[in-house]
Amino acid sequence: MRAHLLDGPARRADAAYGAFDASVLARRRGDLRAANELVSEALRAHTPVDTIRDFAGRDRLNMTSLALNLSHYVNGVARAHRDVSEHMFPGHPIGTITNGVHSATWTSEPFRALFDHHLRGWRDDPALLRQALAIAPEPIWRAHTAAKATLLATVATVSGRQLDPDALTIGFARRSTGYKRADLLFRDVERLRALGKGKLQILYAGKAHPHDGDGKQLIRRIVTAGRELGADVPVIYLPNYDVELAKLVVAGVDVWLNTPLRPLEASGTSGMKAAHNGVPSLSVLDGWWIEGCIEGVTGWAIGKPFDPGVDRQTADREDAADLYSKLETTILPLYHGDRGRWISIMQHAIALNASFFNTHRMVQQYVANAYI
Ligand SMILES: *Cc1c(COP(=O)(O)O)cnc(C)c1O
Repeated sequence: MRAHLLDGPARRADAAYGAFDASVLARRRGDLRAANELVSEALRAHTPVDTIRDFAGRDRLNMTSLALNLSHYVNGVARAHRDVSEHMFPGHPIGTITNGVHSATWTSEPFRALFDHHLRGWRDDPALLRQALAIAPEPIWRAHTAAKATLLATVATVSGRQLDPDALTIGFARRSTGYKRADLLFRDVERLRALGKGKLQILYAGKAHPHDGDGKQLIRRIVTAGRELGADVPVIYLPNYDVELAKLVVAGVDVWLNTPLRPLEASGTSGMKAAHNGVPSLSVLDGWWIEGCIEGVTGWAIGKPFDPGVDRQTADREDAADLYSKLETTILPLYHGDRGRWISIMQHAIALNASFFNTHRMVQQYVANAYI
């Protein structure tokens, strides 16, 4: 049933990725035969080119087919990724081990100190983060305020702009590439201005691949929208995105935004990093967030679950409308009007999501389900 539902977009994704796989190798050596010979060479077993064609495809070299056919065990990096992959490559049983992030690395200094004090041993056993529900709200809020201050100080240094520590701060930082739809928030700039004026500010970061024109265009559109919004809703695009900047941004904002086009996000991990710092996600239901979202408890969903009958234009329009309405009627009133409930959501992001979406749990699942 699910496989049938995934038909259209999965086929488009297959075509796109298949073409990419073939082009990388074939461009280097000229043609498919050369690409297959390159694989034969890499396999170091003098595999006949014809055998490679059996594994990797007759009319183009598909690296995913090759890997699937030469692997004893295969898994997706989230349940949704498993479902899409099984549909794209029928006949290959695919397991699922959802990604995680390294807890001690992605937890900011103020929260590390808080967890060290209240949840001794959490660095070696992040399942202990479940107990974040038992930490009092005040020290949680103090830790967050400290992480936010550190971020805003860095923003002031790099951009020369002073953001408001009391405004709801949305963060979006990841590779800039088309399917991630980083500009979805600016579909209706006047709507955003009306709902956010004086109480909302947005931080972006992320580079585009040098050959990714769409990714670069997204950055231009965000910078342009930011100019239009001016001081009403400050928007800053931070340059030179890297892991160090990522650490500051995932910890120092109030809400983590993700707006990929379904069903193209395999997992996503930055929202898991945010959860380690008590930062709830506001995200499209794709990748890991399908497993991590409990509406109003660990964060919020944007739009509906994936429906292959919905085309790109409709998805963009509906998701943007839902994003604005969630911000206006749920998230902004909660942040500015009910600090107690807000902190409870922060605690649930840690207790339900950081405790699970970490590399300790992930590696244990690889050992138990994949490696032995
Ligand atoms: C975690 C991380 C990513 C991945 O972000 P997604 O939201 O999962 O796409 C990308 N870049 C950097 C620097 C990161 O730390």
